[in-house]
Amino acid sequence: MSYAGRGNRINLILLIVMKIVSACLAGMKTRYDGKAKPHPKVMEMVKKGEAVPVCPEQLGGLPTPRPAAEIINGRVFTCEGRDVTEALAKGAEKGLEIAKLAKCTEAVLASRSPSCGSGEVYDGTFSGKLTRGDGVFAALLKKNGIMVCTEDDV
Ligand code: SF4
Repeated sequence: MSYAGRGNRINLILLIVMKIVSACLAGMKTRYDGKAKPHPKVMEMVKKGEAVPVCPEQLGGLPTPRPAAEIINGRVFTCEGRDVTEALAKGAEKGLEIAKLAKCTEAVLASRSPSCGSGEVYDGTFSGKLTRGDGVFAALLKKNGIMVCTEDDV
């Protein structure tokens, strides 16, 4: 955008902080149960071109719907006992690649997920109990200097 006046031309640069966001918060049906977790503010950010939605678990090759998964001693297992650690790690790397391409410096991720959770995640007992920790994607973004918050913070 630019304004001209008295011979001076002033260029205004609008600084937009690009964000990477959980696809399910943007209204996409990517969750393990085949549903979305739409969040109005996150959806608005995407519509305005200020946020890029990704689902690291789909990027890692997991199907939708899929069995619920939780972190147990640093690895991720489904409720059926399948180790999906590598799939989540692969999806997190791909999500990070997209975040870097889009120059995202912040992230808004879905709370408590074994991929997207930030600060607290389910404790691995599949009983709804929480423990301190980060999901695989959230941890990787933080390690790479991207500020992460959850939908509860926006
Ligand atoms: Fe949403 Fe993240 Fe789970 Fe994908 S991995 S459904 S983006 S919480």
